[in-house]
Amino acid sequence: MQARFNTIWSEITPKLQQALLPYIGNDDFPAMLTTEQVESIKRNSGFDDHALAFALLPLAAACSIPPISHFYVGAIARGESGNLYFGANMEFPGVPLQQTVHAEQSAITHAWLHGEKKLASITINYSPCGHCRQFMNELNSGTQLEVHLPDRPPLTLADYLPEAFGPRDLADAPLLLDTVNHNYQLATHDNLVQAALDAANRSHAPYSQSHAGIALQDEQGRIYTGRYAENAAFNPSLPPLQAALIFMNMSGSDCQSIKRAVLVESKNSQLSQWSATESTLTALGCTKVERHTF
Ligand SMILES: [Zn+2]
Repeated sequence: MQARFNTIWSEITPKLQQALLPYIGNDDFPAMLTTEQVESIKRNSGFDDHALAFALLPLAAACSIPPISHFYVGAIARGESGNLYFGANMEFPGVPLQQTVHAEQSAITHAWLHGEKKLASITINYSPCGHCRQFMNELNSGTQLEVHLPDRPPLTLADYLPEAFGPRDLADAPLLLDTVNHNYQLATHDNLVQAALDAANRSHAPYSQSHAGIALQDEQGRIYTGRYAENAAFNPSLPPLQAALIFMNMSGSDCQSIKRAVLVESKNSQLSQWSATESTLTALGCTKVERHTF
């Protein structure tokens, strides 16, 4: 089992421990459970969907990296496929607080990077902040996304974000988690550049058209990609680097072990991810950062 789960494991009931162990017991547990695994866990533990998502929250929160706030937030996103995706907040000393990742953003982005097409619900251990309510309003689930919190009845995003401003106020364009391919091309034989380009082609930037993707390589040679997720209210947009760091953290890799990073974006777009990407990666100890453009 990954060390980050050790402390919290003793607080899980023995029956649920037994049901979870075949999956979470593996060192390469990717902080997500497939629908088949979820069904098996429910059968062996007696938990229903709702109770299981709540029971998994402490394990999701154990993936938090909050060196500034020391505030551990966990989230579980349920895809329409039935898969469950863990999410946790992440903070980065040495750069502005705007680079912070919230747990809801983490779970949603984690699901997106695993190819989930739509979310049914999100379960969180604290009430979502305004920033996250707006971030969730970008999803193709819309305001019908179910939001589950401890000790409260299940509500929808519409209840948490009344009179919402959202994507439909700006453009009739794809929504977050919709399948897209922007078909940008780059002549390259470099795996990392190709991975970053693939991510840019699946990025969500309907308001600026400034599509961008990134690929990070760790010490073991594993590659983690991230796609830009733009938001109709602009500020809650999630940069591609943060998406890749979410994927890396959830996969159990150390975000301070990045050996090489490649950002791919358009040379003619209105926005650039470059300076924020480079400064955050430098703060994480990665000095080999490249920008490639299409
Ligand atoms: Zn938040």
